[in-house]
Amino acid sequence: MNCLSCHEPIQIKFGWNDLFYLNDPSSICSACSDQLERIEGEICRMCGRSFSIFPEQYRQDDCCFDCLEWEQHGSSITKNRSLYQYNPFLKEVMARFKYRGDAELVKLFQKELQALVKRAFKGTIVVPIPLSKERHYERGFNQAELVAGMIGCPYYHALKRPVHEEKQSKKSKRERLEHATVFTMNEEFRSAIANSDVTIVDDLYTTGATVQAAGKILLDHGARTVSSLTIARG
Ligand SMILES: [Zn+2]
Ligand SMILES: [Zn+2]
Repeated sequence: MNCLSCHEPIQIKFGWNDLFYLNDPSSICSACSDQLERIEGEICRMCGRSFSIFPEQYRQDDCCFDCLEWEQHGSSITKNRSLYQYNPFLKEVMARFKYRGDAELVKLFQKELQALVKRAFKGTIVVPIPLSKERHYERGFNQAELVAGMIGCPYYHALKRPVHEEKQSKKSKRERLEHATVFTMNEEFRSAIANSDVTIVDDLYTTGATVQAAGKILLDHGARTVSSLTIARG
């Protein structure tokens, strides 16, 4: 078996668990795994950012100032949790995953993703952040959808992104940011969403604007709670 990230063969250290097939074979070598910065320890209760790399003066108790601001405006998201810090290594991995069509790479995150879901998202249903039709067609796949599919919870394409993203290059950065977060409900899945705890899945959480916008639509359509889960925290 080769590492999904660097394609070098993985040296498997066999133990009793492997002998009895309790462990899945690893999909990432230890050299690559060591470059992933897992988010552990004290985190913001809302956005899940690690406080270890975050200046003390930008937090109040267990919440960062960004999230306090979201909450003042009525946050649609109960919490976000992310697996890793968005460091240069992960940025590179995700660029391959997203833009070069290396869809296999998503398997790299599967085990830790499933463990996180067990810990923090019990009984949830999953909704991937959609790409616009045009972008989906260009790329051939939606990375958020691939991630959603491997979590092992029921998932629904409950959101649509109707904006034609190509036209956005002519807009100002501010306009683009606003338009990038326009979603509509896929009415087909309204009954699945109603009274459910929903977890939005995306590859990256940065400002929270995308998941907040998506969360609002889902709450407007009857979701009981909306949380989000991303591979990386920028
Ligand atoms: Zn590797
Ligand atoms: Zn926060």
